[in-house]
Amino acid sequence: FRRKQPTAQELIEAILKGDKIALSRAITLIESTNPEHLERANEVIQGCLPYANKSVRIGITGVPGVGKSTFIEAFGKYLTSLGKKVAVLAVDPSSSISHGSILGDKTRMEELVKDENAYIRPSASGDSLGGVARKTRESIMLCEACGFDTIIIETVGVGQSETAVHSMVDFFLLLKIAGAGDELQGIKRGIMEMADTIVINKADGDNIAKAKLAKTEFNRALHLFPAKNSGWIPKVTTCSAFEKTGIDKVWEIIAEYFELTKENNYFEQKRKEQNQYWMLETINEQLKNRFYSHPEIMSLLEQNKKAVQNNELSPFAAAQMLLEKYFNF
Ligand code: GDP
Repeated sequence: FRRKQPTAQELIEAILKGDKIALSRAITLIESTNPEHLERANEVIQGCLPYANKSVRIGITGVPGVGKSTFIEAFGKYLTSLGKKVAVLAVDPSSSISHGSILGDKTRMEELVKDENAYIRPSASGDSLGGVARKTRESIMLCEACGFDTIIIETVGVGQSETAVHSMVDFFLLLKIAGAGDELQGIKRGIMEMADTIVINKADGDNIAKAKLAKTEFNRALHLFPAKNSGWIPKVTTCSAFEKTGIDKVWEIIAEYFELTKENNYFEQKRKEQNQYWMLETINEQLKNRFYSHPEIMSLLEQNKKAVQNNELSPFAAAQMLLEKYFNF
């Protein structure tokens, strides 16, 4: 680009040609708080929309230290060796709140970063999970328009971020390690229930036997959950991201899932539902943001907070008054 600020049209054309620099620039616009940038970002998204959607989206979660970065590097390299184009995005709201990221520095995926058929983008920052998730969700569409056919969304298995990621992917992978205490304790039931596969990483060296045992235990645990609407029975497998073993098996499971859910139409149905979900989420997010950043509401809110604390006004009446005020501006 000769000019500093490419137009939306220029960005769209470059993205559709597979230009990663244009892709990065467009994602930066999505992440910006400048209204002019957001307007341009929306134009780019709208222009890319007809070319998006042609991909598989895989969510990967796991607590810090299980080996997410190492796994994604090995998995990503395996996928590009199959001729796939892989984009890795992340949802890490912690990075904006604590200014330190739990997911860490993506430059650790040294080989994947250098791979011409891979694109890695660290998590957007923002003051709410909703904001970060929306930006990631929009970035997925741009990556797809740019020709990436396999989108990996990484997040940490703490807080609510895995729920947000689950609602933007087709397949959800939970990464675990064996021998971290009682296998079935400390696992949030919700995450287990969301998982389409559990991959037990670090199955190497002295860990192999423990990993196999964990596999049996997780398999048993998964059978206790109700059947999934997808008709899919979650699978458990082991791998070593470090030694790059079992990675092909993980892809085999995922491919099997896509075959099943594309055949029984669940894949398509779920995406339609997710689109609706994200529209409603965006409305909720924007309503909240606008309400709380309205100057008059801000000062009234402070007054009402005190009145509510002192029992001069009921919480419900105070809320009602503020909402009515806002919607009558
Ligand atoms: P993340 O926090 O989930 O992204 O985890 P990392 O990918 O940063 O890995 C955490 C640590 O576990 C690092 O020291 C890795 O070298 C190590 N690690 C990751 N995968 C494996 C594996 O398959 N086997 C072994 N032995 N170590 C691993």
